[in-house]
Amino acid sequence: MIKLGSVSLFLSWKCNFSCNHCGFSCNPARTEKMPHEEALKYIDAVALNPDLEMVAFTGGEPFLYPEQIKSLMAHAFSKNLRGGVVTNGYWADDYKKTYAILAELQALGLQEIITSFDDYHNEYVPAHNIANVLNAAGELGIYSGVNMLVTKKSRIKRTNAAERLGLDIEERVRAKKMWIRESSPVLVGRAKKNYAEEESITYGEKELLHNPCPFVIRNSVITPEGSLYACCGFGDASEQGPGSLMYAGNMKEQGFEQLYSNVSNNLMLNIIHLLGPYPLVKLAKEARPGLSVKERYVSNCEICDEIANNQELRSAVGSVLSKIMASGGV
Ligand code: SF4
Ligand code: SF4
Repeated sequence: MIKLGSVSLFLSWKCNFSCNHCGFSCNPARTEKMPHEEALKYIDAVALNPDLEMVAFTGGEPFLYPEQIKSLMAHAFSKNLRGGVVTNGYWADDYKKTYAILAELQALGLQEIITSFDDYHNEYVPAHNIANVLNAAGELGIYSGVNMLVTKKSRIKRTNAAERLGLDIEERVRAKKMWIRESSPVLVGRAKKNYAEEESITYGEKELLHNPCPFVIRNSVITPEGSLYACCGFGDASEQGPGSLMYAGNMKEQGFEQLYSNVSNNLMLNIIHLLGPYPLVKLAKEARPGLSVKERYVSNCEICDEIANNQELRSAVGSVLSKIMASGGV
């Protein structure tokens, strides 16, 4: 049985920026916001799960609501849950200020901060903001992570990130003080409108066949609307959220444990967690020769997106899963 590790609350779809690649189509005009009282109730509900370790806050840009982050993080910490936050780092223009903000959050339970560094975010957020976040987190002993979205045309890549940030991030990764994840954007949300597939860096069967997704089931998320998903890779929330493979239901209609048991008992999601999504595509292709699917993908998340949106593939995967269930297991 895969255990729940973290729940992320998407506090809103509002962001101060409109990055071209944003899979959730966040921007300054979005108004959907998780009411504070509901967020408190969600924390109370998820805290009853004995395996839960962390509640993280994301969006949109959660630092647009600093008082709410503080209050919710403190509430989660009072239930022995560690705090996490995902931010574009717009507020970290001054090192002393950045250190003070993170120190205050650390006292309220913050143990991990995730930010982004790539051409898309760099249009809005200077490299020194990201360096401030990573340096202050490092000094305080807060674990940090950097997502890097790259294409063949990117100027900023993992290979030159240390130089641009002016800090030895690879050494920090080796010392297990931070992580870096680099991939091309999945073409959903605004990325679908702004990028050509040929620009993406893609991978084939050799790389994808043995590539489990450690996030699904373990890292569930709740949106501003109260929807629970099995991971954060559900694409554009406003366009296809409830149609996503990862949709479990709405917290306003059912209790968390019921919704979460739908997720944790879902055969497809368990296979994706243990083996990755590609084996499902491979089995579907073997079962239905001639099935039209992509040969290469930018990441596991793009495979899930194709399973969700290519109806022929979705139905073939459904048949594969039915056969597995009928035979009594994987
Ligand atoms: S990618 Fe992040 S920073 Fe950019 S618009 Fe979306 S939420 Fe905001
Ligand atoms: S690979 Fe699939 S299951 Fe894993 S995070 Fe991406 S969309 Fe979710």
